[in-house]
Order: sequence, then structure tokens, then C-alpha cells
Amino acid sequence: MVDGVVRVGASVRIAARCIAATARCPGCGTLSVRVHSRYGRRIADTAVAGQETAIALQVRRFFCDSTDCAKKTVAEQLDQLTFRYGRRTVILQRLLRHIALALGGQAANASPNGWPRP
Ligand SMILES: [Zn+2]
Repeated sequence: MVDGVVRVGASVRIAARCIAATARCPGCGTLSVRVHSRYGRRIADTAVAGQETAIALQVRRFFCDSTDCAKKTVAEQLDQLTFRYGRRTVILQRLLRHIALALGGQAANASPNGWPRP
């Protein structure tokens, strides 16, 4: 849900928050409904009319109630927008990867932290 869009200097800032009732644990697949906490993420997005775009996203962390799961809390992700530990949107990440590969940066395709690429 978008709460507001403002232009700050040469950039566009979008304030948004997740409103889904549940989040799926990536460890065990359990749907979680109990909210643990909230925090803010700042995510870079593709440019709008040539202007830098940033999303100030309020995200919730849910408890994973499965007793067999090693994860105790789970941060919600927005499909096609965010990914774990990402500071860019999925589309911006893909765009930058394509640019890096086109310029010969084969190292850009390797994941530095071992997590799967979005
Ligand atoms: Zn779990």
C-alpha cells in the first residue's frame, strides 16, 4: 500500500507498507500470522523520468510458529519487489546484472553471500 509519493530534490521518494495478513516462512513454508515487530527498509528502484527513485518500505517481522523450524522470526517480502537482504528492487537488481554482464563483468553473476539470486 502506497502511503505517499514526494519529490525531494532530483529524486522521487515513495512511502509504502505491506498489508498482507500473513508471511510465509522461507525455512519451513508455514504461514505466519503473529506479528513480531516492524522496521523500515530503504530500497532503490528504477528511475522515474530519469530521476532517482527510492522506496521507504515499512516491513513486518512475523513469528514462525512451527516447532520444527530453526527460524524464530520471518521478515515479509513483497513478490517481484523485494528479496532477502536486498537494497534494490528485483527489477533494478536484474537490470544492473544485465548491464554488468553486457560490460563483461562475469563476477557480477556470482552471489557473494550464497543466497539465490532473485
Ligand atoms: Zn519456519
